Amino acid sequence: MDNENNNDRWVFDGKYFVKVKRCLLCGLPSHTDKLCENCQYALFQIRELKDCLTEALREGKMPPDWALKAAEKITETLADYPYFLAYKKVISEIVWYYIIDDESLYNGIEIEEVTELEYTHRSRDQILRDLYELEIIDISLDRRIFPGKMLKSLLDLKKIYGDNFASFNWKSYTLAIQAIFMLGIVEKLLEKHIKENTPLPRIPLVTFKILSAVIQKYKDKTDELDRINEFRLLDIELQALISILGSKVSKNRFYINITGIKDSNAKLIEDFDEKEKEFIIHKDLNNYIKRMIERIRDVERERKR
Ligand SMILES: [Zn+2]
Repeated sequence: MDNENNNDRWVFDGKYFVKVKRCLLCGLPSHTDKLCENCQYALFQIRELKDCLTEALREGKMPPDWALKAAEKITETLADYPYFLAYKKVISEIVWYYIIDDESLYNGIEIEEVTELEYTHRSRDQILRDLYELEIIDISLDRRIFPGKMLKSLLDLKKIYGDNFASFNWKSYTLAIQAIFMLGIVEKLLEKHIKENTPLPRIPLVTFKILSAVIQKYKDKTDELDRINEFRLLDIELQALISILGSKVSKNRFYINITGIKDSNAKLIEDFDEKEKEFIIHKDLNNYIKRMIERIRDVERERKR
């Protein structure tokens, strides 16, 4: 047996066994490629949003409003995802050192000094490599940690412009950094699953698949897009996507999280229309959805040429 993630399955259709192509990510039937259209859009969104935030921070600029609002809702939705915890703690500790001690900014921090790296069960080298690849940290040849391009923009706010921890800029930059590492790691985990069949990050995937479904639903409504002020998704459409979470407990937890019932902070969903049996997507995601639809149209037009 080879290790390749084979996406052909034999399915009994009531009479014969037929070969059906299944999406390598969500496992649903795929007519397009190795990935279904919905999962392709999910990956597209992850890369677009990550690139937009990264580009802004690299140039020391505030990311655009649509990206920040979406980043906030998405990071809130994924905040409890255990995989991110170690990264978040390590980044926070490093930022703290740079802020309280100028010396550490110029001479770097010894890897052994970062206590959160000692206390995590994740691979220390993997965390450092991921943060390095996402330009959050830099590592010198003598293995000391320096701020990467992303952290530099954040630290400049404090060190050069004197912003305080409660300022709008500080909050936005911190948020952008959190979103960048979450998106970067989700992207990697999904790519790894496609290539090597490693465990699938189901909750992050479903989060983006929900947004993909909205994009697919509204993508062809060309002239109306500007005028839409509420994006909706049928209850049954959402249920179908959430089915990849498996157990009823996981599904309910997800609903309770994205609607904000658990912490009074609505995330992906801001309301449920009982009459129409439709979920209303949080309005902070409206411009993000419009933006993604425009980008997808651009790419598809380009491809047709
Ligand atoms: Zn799929």
